Amino acid sequence: MKYIGAHVSAAGGVENAPLNAKKIKATAFALFTKNQRQWTAKPLSEQNIEGFKQNCRNNGFTPRQILPHDSYLINLGHPDPDGLEKSRAAFLDEMMRCRQLGLEYLNFHPGSHLKRISESESLARIADSINIALENTTGVTAVIENTAGQGTNLGYCFEHLAQIIDGVEDKSRVGVCLDTCHLFAAGYDIRTAAGYDATMNDFHRIVGMDYLKGMHLNDSKKARESRVDRHESIGKGTLGSDAFSFIFNDPRTDDIPLILETPNTDLWAKEIEMLKAMTIDA
Ligand SMILES: [Zn+2]
Ligand SMILES: [Zn+2]
Repeated sequence: MKYIGAHVSAAGGVENAPLNAKKIKATAFALFTKNQRQWTAKPLSEQNIEGFKQNCRNNGFTPRQILPHDSYLINLGHPDPDGLEKSRAAFLDEMMRCRQLGLEYLNFHPGSHLKRISESESLARIADSINIALENTTGVTAVIENTAGQGTNLGYCFEHLAQIIDGVEDKSRVGVCLDTCHLFAAGYDIRTAAGYDATMNDFHRIVGMDYLKGMHLNDSKKARESRVDRHESIGKGTLGSDAFSFIFNDPRTDDIPLILETPNTDLWAKEIEMLKAMTIDA
């Protein structure tokens, strides 16, 4: 089964996210459980929590179809003690919010070394940050996203993801989300069937397919290997739509949330319809 949706708005309360997903005929969705541009947020109310759970139930969304995303401010590989501590506290809070909502995943960008520590040191800090979050929570899996490698962002190659996972003690609660725009901008050529297969096989060899918990479906405004993270609507960018037809005919992407983060929200319903139609029935 393919679960397909978009990163929908939670304006007015998290309980609105499943309703917004239903409107575009999604079978999966992503959301922020708090304002993604602020460090702090007021706690979720009983009304938020119950409303969210009920709206998910009523519209057929199980936790495995939902991929919450953390705040963009968090840097779990921060070089400075203050920045690191602040990020770890905010991440733990986000994990707890997911738990309160009955969710099983929290998707995040690994972190940035900011040119003040080595890549390797920063990757080790990210693993430690995940360990701290997992030790202090239950039930939620930390889902690391691959990145385009813009600026000093880590996670642009499978080796980085493997190194982080290697440092995580409870491997049953760590996973990966692969973003197609980020893959392509980082250099992975998934435009052809052979290139897509080689990329997925590399992922399996270096990280392990069992860790794949979700995907972000985005075309790219920028060229392959540009290391610039600019999403484009499906089929309108430098990646092109073939990559998505490979994904939709690949059993390795069954039963995980496949989430659009494309810029034109007016196109989401159409994009979902188009993507669903890409699966060729065997
Ligand atoms: Zn993404
Ligand atoms: Zn991105």
